[in-house]
Amino acid sequence: MQDCIFCKIIKGEIPSHKVYEDKDTVAILDIRPINAGHTLVVPKKHSTDLLDIDDEDLKKAIVVVKRVAKAIKEAVNAQGINLGMNNGKAAGQLVFHPHLHVMPRFENDGYKHWYGKDISQEELTKIAKKIKEKIN
Ligand code: 5GP
Ligand code: ZN
Repeated sequence: MQDCIFCKIIKGEIPSHKVYEDKDTVAILDIRPINAGHTLVVPKKHSTDLLDIDDEDLKKAIVVVKRVAKAIKEAVNAQGINLGMNNGKAAGQLVFHPHLHVMPRFENDGYKHWYGKDISQEELTKIAKKIKEKIN
């Protein structure tokens, strides 16, 4: 993808702080981290998001996520690690090349979790049925 910033980073056309690289996956520091050490694990092959990524690329990426998470935890003495992946504009995705955020966390670091809504058992049952029917 010509205009994809992560493809350019992968090709070395744009500089980045690479902390890991193999044949299929790279891991780079996020330029606007929630905490120092916040890393993006990026499959090299271009696609858009979780919904169109190749399964094999995803499997490889998630294993890299685990290795990177352990390394970050030790490197910055993190007390916890959040994983994140924004898929689609409505979900806050800004770079349309799949990437998993690996974010070091500390007690009271100010990062806010999502806010859960109340929902009835009836609605939960209904939505569970709908999702189950769509899984293939
Ligand atoms: P998302 O698509 O997951 O919502 O956000 C993209 C993430 O990529 C953001 O956290 C942003 O800080 C990071 N980012 C955007 N442009 C660059 C870049 O050129 N280099 C690096 N290393 N990170 C970037
Ligand atoms: Zn790309």
